[in-house]
Amino acid sequence: MSTEPASPDAFLEDAAHYPGGHARGVLFPRSAADIADMLRRVPAALPVGAQSSLTGGATPMGEMIISTSKMTEVVSRSADRITVQAGLTVAAMQEHLTAAGAWFPPAPTFTGASAGGIVSTNAAGAATFKYGSTRPWVEALIVVLADGTILDLHRRDVTAHAGTFTLDTRSGPVTVPVPSYVMPDVAKRSAGYHAHSNMDLVDLFIGAEGTLGVVAQITFRVMTTAPQSTLALIPCRSERQALDVVIALQHASLQTRQAADPAGIDTAAIENIDERSIQILREDGADKANDVTFPEGSRVALLVQLELPAGTSSAQAYDQIGSALTPDAPDGALTRFCQLLERHSLLDVTELALPGDRRRTDQLIAIREAVPAGVNRRVGVAKREIDPRIEKTAADMVVPLEAFGEMMDVYRRGFQARGIDYAIWGHISDGNVHPNVIPRSYDDVVRGKEAILEFGRAAVALGGCPLAEHGVGRNLVKQALLRQLYGDAGISEMRAVKRALDPEWKLAPGVIFPR
Ligand SMILES: Cc1cc2nc3c(=O)[nH]c(=O)nc-3n(C[C@H](O)[C@H](O)[C@H](O)COP(=O)(O)OP(=O)(O)OC[C@H]3O[C@@H](n4cnc5c(N)ncnc54)[C@H](O)[C@@H]3O)c2cc1C
Repeated sequence: MSTEPASPDAFLEDAAHYPGGHARGVLFPRSAADIADMLRRVPAALPVGAQSSLTGGATPMGEMIISTSKMTEVVSRSADRITVQAGLTVAAMQEHLTAAGAWFPPAPTFTGASAGGIVSTNAAGAATFKYGSTRPWVEALIVVLADGTILDLHRRDVTAHAGTFTLDTRSGPVTVPVPSYVMPDVAKRSAGYHAHSNMDLVDLFIGAEGTLGVVAQITFRVMTTAPQSTLALIPCRSERQALDVVIALQHASLQTRQAADPAGIDTAAIENIDERSIQILREDGADKANDVTFPEGSRVALLVQLELPAGTSSAQAYDQIGSALTPDAPDGALTRFCQLLERHSLLDVTELALPGDRRRTDQLIAIREAVPAGVNRRVGVAKREIDPRIEKTAADMVVPLEAFGEMMDVYRRGFQARGIDYAIWGHISDGNVHPNVIPRSYDDVVRGKEAILEFGRAAVALGGCPLAEHGVGRNLVKQALLRQLYGDAGISEMRAVKRALDPEWKLAPGVIFPR
């Protein structure tokens, strides 16, 4: 281990481009013991992984940066577990698993993110509808507390009793109060500290964004086999039509899982892009570049990831698709999928990438990814050419699917009433979308933030969560959304947790809430 801090210049910004990043230096531990030693010697530290944070949470504000980039070992692997150091990227972990036929389902879209980063933000992938977020896949953690205590935590070993945890630390016994707020019951949540009466200590550190301890090592549960899946692109004529087919697909998928029906429809993810997003793809030529045509009048496009029974061949898939509407169609997931689309008058316009057609699958994924890329580029251009104060202004909210249509109306009304150009895309199967401002002036950013706070109030009123997967970080609007969700009392309860484990406020100060 090098004990001398290196120049922090390459570590002063995360993917949120949060302004003002500065640091005392950067240290590169190789083990939990190194992290403990470092924490004992510095007054303030910010753990960082790949710095792909979209909230400024991985932007240093004068702390010593503790980068996990040299902690990239796979420590061990069994059939359904993998233990890795915190700096290993999701892509590298997935590659390691693929070699053994295994798979880590909750991987976020950005696979350059580190294992420690996805745990610390409770990241969620597109397939949350089937597999959940990172949290339930974490079996064990090695965490280093601010005073250098190394905790080796295994799920189900330590649970809260009478609203507290009691821990032995280097500084003596510590009582950690469990907050009393009730978390919204939604598919994904990255909104401050996890809390419920008999919670597991492992869960306290998941989603804590580096404020309670530095994650050094993680044991994840993994799937022993990767599923076979296929993608379908479905252009819809209205948001109502899109929502109806999403609800029907989810309903069918839940039935399939309940009955373990091998011929049933089994969707893992449904992504959506709105009309403005489709227009952006056309303006940027991303539709042509990926050989995709959206019919005139397409208001929403859905990208459905459908899982198929292992071993489904292209010929079988062809057979099911080709004869789905005939009386002697073979029963199977694709037959039923086509029949469902036909009932929603969508079969004619749907394109299915056949299982194994990697090129077409990649093109359909590229279409989805071209939307945020196009919007981010527009934000960058506006910042350069119109006003340097312009920044990405976007929400990341989740509501129960029953309230999704109503929430979409809230987003649209809020932006339109303020004359803001915007695009909305996301993970419709989780009720989680990203409404984004396409700024034409700094004023759009200011009014966009005001709209997002309004959305947050509506999301909470509809039983949702205004912070779904990216966390809170240093972003002041996100910190305000967290306050809207749990009130000042909830933030005080989080502060009490922080004070118990980190009385000197050493770790990631200013992240999630101000001191
Ligand atoms: C193009 C793109 C796509 C994205 N897609 C998704 C998506 O699909 N789903 C999703 O959930 N997110 C997504 N994100 C956001 C981001 O990738 C996630 O938040 C990710 O989990 C961050 O991992 P990281 O290694 O980059 O962590 P960093 O950005 O380095 O850190 C994030 C936070 O975690 C803390 N932290 C990092 N490592 C540790 C550690 N070892 N111990 C304690 N604290 C630590 C940091 O202090 C910081 O607060 C996306 C980002 C980009 C740029």
